[in-house]
Amino acid sequence: MAVTRTFSIIKPDATRRNLTGAVTKMLEEAGLRVVASKRIQMTKEQAEGFYGVHRERPFFGDLVSFMTSGPVVVQVLEGEDAVKRNRDIMGATNPANADAGTIRKELAESIEANTVHGSDSEENAAIEIAFFFKPEEIVG
Ligand code: UDP
Repeated sequence: MAVTRTFSIIKPDATRRNLTGAVTKMLEEAGLRVVASKRIQMTKEQAEGFYGVHRERPFFGDLVSFMTSGPVVVQVLEGEDAVKRNRDIMGATNPANADAGTIRKELAESIEANTVHGSDSEENAAIEIAFFFKPEEIVG
């Protein structure tokens, strides 16, 4: 299996509860390596751009408000089959439906405040990494 990269966000519900380390530990224990990381306050424009695919969805406005409600930690993760590996350890979007042992089952608050974002394809991973990181900020 090839070593690839994916993009992750530790969301405001997690930074508010001081769970940056707890989330990162679960990512690392799942075989992912943090090769870039920064804590930022996302602007409304950034959140609207990042979640642009969801613009027509009923939850879009609330999601943008939530993602700008506090700091987030944006990360590039590297590992074998990183996109799938990360999606597996994240768990289902709604923590109520997530498997035991996943980040969302163990830590998330709700379908919106669900602790982590992870790219859903290699194509989107490349787009999302480039949205937040310059190539020289990623050190593998
Ligand atoms: N979301 C929400 N309500 C919903 C569905 C999604 O607030 O009914 C939020 C949630 O924070 C989710 C994000 O929108 O993580 C993006 O949704 P997506 O369907 O892409 O889920 P993900 O890929 O994050 O599991």
